[in-house]
Amino acid sequence: MRKKERAAEAVRLLKTEYPDALCSLEYTDPFELLVATRLSAQCTDARVNLVTPALFEKYRTLDDYVNADVREIEAIIHSCGFFRQKAKDIIGMAAGVRDRFGGRVPDNIEDLTSLPGVGRKTANLICGDVYRVPSVVVADTHLIRISNRLGLVDTKDPYKVELALRALLPPEESNDFCHRCVLHGRAVCDARKPRCEQCVLAGICPQGRASVKSEP
Ligand code: SF4
Repeated sequence: MRKKERAAEAVRLLKTEYPDALCSLEYTDPFELLVATRLSAQCTDARVNLVTPALFEKYRTLDDYVNADVREIEAIIHSCGFFRQKAKDIIGMAAGVRDRFGGRVPDNIEDLTSLPGVGRKTANLICGDVYRVPSVVVADTHLIRISNRLGLVDTKDPYKVELALRALLPPEESNDFCHRCVLHGRAVCDARKPRCEQCVLAGICPQGRASVKSEP
């Protein structure tokens, strides 16, 4: 099976398995998603979702963030790790969105990555989830692992994975496919012990076939 066919089949199978391809971060507007995504670096989404209600309750507008005492934000987000840099970035992001983009979170990678603390992964997430831009690839750890195991890519470099998958995935499906890979990575395709015998992708996955064959 060619890579493009395998990618299309993986899209189809995961869509059946996980009909709701939702982001696991909780938010009510684009800026909140930007903040939650920044907090999720080196942290779990579950932890971020515990922290953000208090943050979003206290800071409701871009002005609230820009005028905030950084130490008060640090205290709220402390348990997410790297809290000093993250607090500084959140204030910087609010200032950037307010002063350079007229208060609207940008809808393209270039402008998004010009904001402090925003990398390609976050920028792709905003483009895909908020603006439904096609061909978005959020190269997180689960997607990178599963794409390698499926033989769609042969690299751990997030940018190379992003480019390779963009060429393989149907443009309108790629963002949801990334979310589904996160769900599948957590539920089945574990980093250390993939449960290939329970995996909906086993029939098209070279690594799955190899591990099933090698069983006694
Ligand atoms: S068959 Fe195994 S290695 Fe392949 S995607 Fe499924 S769980 Fe992961």
